[in-house]
Amino acid sequence: MESGLETACRICGLDVGEVRFDDHGLALFVICGCCGTESGVGDDTVVQARRLRARWLDAGSVWFEPKGRPADWELREQLRNVPPSWR
Ligand SMILES: [Zn+2]
Repeated sequence: MESGLETACRICGLDVGEVRFDDHGLALFVICGCCGTESGVGDDTVVQARRLRARWLDAGSVWFEPKGRPADWELREQLRNVPPSWR
């Protein structure tokens, strides 16, 4: 692997280029504007990530920061950005 940098949210897939986990896999505690998950808080195992994702989806996949939501936002498309090992 060239770089382990993660910019996509492990929960919802939002990727605004902000580094959430560095190349050592260390969390930078970035709060996701979409699902509101803070990197490194409850998303450090796949089981936890899936649980958080399910909870967020069940609650209607509401944006944490509504003004960050693009007019043409597509949930399904964004979920494809979730790194494969976190799906
Ligand atoms: Zn997110």
